[in-house]
Parts: sequence; C-alpha cells; structure tokens
Amino acid sequence: MAFPIKVCAVCAEEFELKPGKPGFANRCPACSEPEDADPKAKPGMNADERKSLKEANEARRRAMRDLLYRKDS
Ligand SMILES: [Zn+2]
Repeated sequence: MAFPIKVCAVCAEEFELKPGKPGFANRCPACSEPEDADPKAKPGMNADERKSLKEANEARRRAMRDLLYRKDS
C-alpha cells in the first residue's frame, strides 16, 4: 500500500505520510519529535529552593531512621 510522498518542511527530506503519523503532516517523523522533551531540566530553581529541598530530604531520612530504630528496640 502506497502512502503519499511529502517533503519535510524542516529538513526537506521526502517521507511517506502514513495515517496516524504523530506530529505535523508536513514534517518527516524525525522532525516531528519534540525537541524540548527533557523532564530533567528544571529552570527557575534557585539555590535557596535547592537548599530547602535538600533539608527536607534530610529531615525525611532522619525521621525514617528514627522509625526503624524504634521498631528494632
Ligand atoms: Zn524532516
């Protein structure tokens, strides 16, 4: 079964426009992938926020440890 051949609007490569192709109809599959799909990147977190997050984690770890010790004794 033949699909219509399109020319990618981004890289000018020809590609088959398959039904259900994600992204734009005038972009090849490679160019349809989102460029900013990085969940690790967290802009807007300043040093104070990082510090309080670290302290919260330490407090939680300490509470967990207390709980474990209490169970042991
Ligand atoms: Zn392309």
